[in-house]
Amino acid sequence: MALLQISEPGQSAAPHQHKLAVGIDLGTTNSLVATVRSGLSSILVDEDGHNLLPSVVRYMPDGGIEVGYSAQAAQSQDPTNTVVSAKRFMGRGLKDIDVSQQPYHFIETKSASGEMLQIETRAGIKSPVEISAEILKTLKARAEKSLGGELVGAVITVPAYFDDAQRQATKDAARLAGLNVLRLLNEPTAAAVAYGLDNASEGIYVIYDLGGGTFDISILKLAKGVFEVLATNGDSALGGDDFDRRIFCWALDQRLAEQSKCTPLNAQDTRLLLTKAREAKEWLTDHASAQITSVLSTGELLNVTLSTKQFNELTQTLVTKTLAPTKKALRDAGLTIEDIKGVVMVGGATRMPQIRLSVADFFKQTPLTNLDPDKVVALGAAIQANTLAGNKGDNELLLLDVIPLSLGLETMGGLVEKIIPRNSTLPITRAQEFTTFKDGQTAMSIHVLQGERELVTDCRSLARFELRGIPPMVAGSARIRVTFTVDADGLLSVSAREVASNVEANIVVKPSYGLSEEQILNMLQSGFGAAESDKQARALAEAKVDAESLLAAIEIALEKDSDLLNAQEIQAIRGKMDALRANIHAGASHAIHEATEALNLATEEFAARRMDASVSHALAGKNLDEVNF
Ligand code: AMP
Repeated sequence: MALLQISEPGQSAAPHQHKLAVGIDLGTTNSLVATVRSGLSSILVDEDGHNLLPSVVRYMPDGGIEVGYSAQAAQSQDPTNTVVSAKRFMGRGLKDIDVSQQPYHFIETKSASGEMLQIETRAGIKSPVEISAEILKTLKARAEKSLGGELVGAVITVPAYFDDAQRQATKDAARLAGLNVLRLLNEPTAAAVAYGLDNASEGIYVIYDLGGGTFDISILKLAKGVFEVLATNGDSALGGDDFDRRIFCWALDQRLAEQSKCTPLNAQDTRLLLTKAREAKEWLTDHASAQITSVLSTGELLNVTLSTKQFNELTQTLVTKTLAPTKKALRDAGLTIEDIKGVVMVGGATRMPQIRLSVADFFKQTPLTNLDPDKVVALGAAIQANTLAGNKGDNELLLLDVIPLSLGLETMGGLVEKIIPRNSTLPITRAQEFTTFKDGQTAMSIHVLQGERELVTDCRSLARFELRGIPPMVAGSARIRVTFTVDADGLLSVSAREVASNVEANIVVKPSYGLSEEQILNMLQSGFGAAESDKQARALAEAKVDAESLLAAIEIALEKDSDLLNAQEIQAIRGKMDALRANIHAGASHAIHEATEALNLATEEFAARRMDASVSHALAGKNLDEVNF
């Protein structure tokens, strides 16, 4: 008889076996994969020794698929079948992007979950999820080849401002690539982990991320092993590429100064000169001057020298431009520079000395730069993956993220009841009980919302579903328990259950299209700015709901028991009801409260008589002993 080896639940049969787990930085321009080996996080390279994998996917004429450098090289000759920056389209609809700036044939498909953007290629219609899956497949294959085994899972990083749809799309891409997602991790959080800040003393850290085309600033608060995103801001059209363009324009100016007449550059020469400009920029990081030499297609020789001093002057406004979102993020978080314990530099463009100097000057401290700014996010993700795969000691703290925007549902009067407040640590489950508004109500519409504002119209609608089959009861006596669960990846599921009958309905929220970073910031900022007016709007809506339910109850009572009142009394009550209706119409919460009070007072006697009548009805023809009070 063979012996089967079994293990305790949650414990591995071979506790000392190292599980292969990776961290993946799925970037807009480049992607990386990293792992922890012998306690050290390192990037896994391809067979040519490249760290980076350009996030470019080409659908080839022969039916094959190319990913990375070869696809990137074919971009200009085969633009419609070579997809770059698929990350920008993840979880988005057509109205979220500027189609005119893109070479692709976009189409939008409608599904149960809403509109989804897709791209028509020679290999058929491809979704951003499928395209990203090709990048992930390539990284998975690279990792399995260099680690010599199958991966147990991966931590994949996403921008902190990614919403549910964008996170879900990232998870779907990973699943399609055959990867087990251990967790999605916010990019700034990953960078902080790479620097070991999760083991550092508690405090507030800034992650300054300047890539090729985007700038992101995140303020994280570390407390009890949990990173909370206090604020994010940025500029989705500012990055190292803008520095290249400044050099490019400067070189053209020099050419104009040297020659009396210049022919305009064609597309090929423009591309060539932009590449030279980029090389010059990168050279200037470690050198005092850079030579830009280019033979144009006309045979003209362009030969100019750019000094560091000139470069700094040319790009001074770009450097300053990053400080505006930085100041805004600090202001949103209610912080000053003195509150910042450390600044982490992420993104290739933070190698530029003028950026480092400007950040040091602004924050009055030297930023953390000793890790490669291109690799730092992947390195942090690998550390997290290693922990989640169980390769670390039991007492290792797990790093947690928080949700960026509050989640709630619609209640009467168009108000939002927040169930999970923003910045709650994930994963989280919160439940709250609600009741019916009308007598005999057998269904309830559940409207799930996201945002910081008090009114439904100011928040973002995520989903709607209905709970049906509630047993008919008097208004206010049904108990409907609504549970919100956000998993460790920030994905939301909502369930509603009527407690007495156990009827239940639920939904997993996969919103049809996402929010842009700007929209999220706007939602947060309008929430901060509108607190007072929101409070008033809530007070008014609540006063109206109370008043209307009182009016409805009195109408029913008058219909049933008007014989308990004389004509004069009925007229008095009707007068107060009309006054209350007029005040509801006028829309001043204070006046509605007063009119509601007045109506309550005017109907006190009527309520007492109804009570007496129902008691004497219950007692009619019975012994006192039989009556159950
Ligand atoms: P990322 O999107 O993080 O990969 O950053 C890419 C940007 O970093 C591009 O604009 C690069 O030109 C820029 N970059 C890479 N290396 C350097 C360097 N040594 N000095 C200045 N910029 C660099």
